[in-house]
Amino acid sequence: MSKYTEQYKDVRWQKLRLEVFKRDDFKCCRCGLEEEVSLNAHHLIYFPNAKPWEYDPEILISLCDDCHETVHEIEPFRRFYGKMLKEVCTAFRVLMEFKCRISELSNKEFGGNKNGD
Ligand SMILES: [Zn+2]
Ligand SMILES: [Zn+2]
Repeated sequence: MSKYTEQYKDVRWQKLRLEVFKRDDFKCCRCGLEEEVSLNAHHLIYFPNAKPWEYDPEILISLCDDCHETVHEIEPFRRFYGKMLKEVCTAFRVLMEFKCRISELSNKEFGGNKNGD
């Protein structure tokens, strides 16, 4: 347990998570919160023997503390994902990204344009 926590202090992990945060514009991928201090780089899947920093950034998403907690609560499937192919998890991240965009777009679209076509 404590050994695992130690791994998250590793500079390689710090570097990878920063890369993920940058890619996601330091926003939570689930609720859009922009608060760098509360961001977590969440592993969409886990591989049994991989170190946290050995993952492709594609497999990581930025989540705020609240969303991260929620995702972990509602995600007992995680081990199941671990058995899937990498392509599947990439598709999953694309889906998450798509959701991010949709919420951004709907904020814009529904903000002012109510003229239909
Ligand atoms: Zn959030
Ligand atoms: Zn997580």
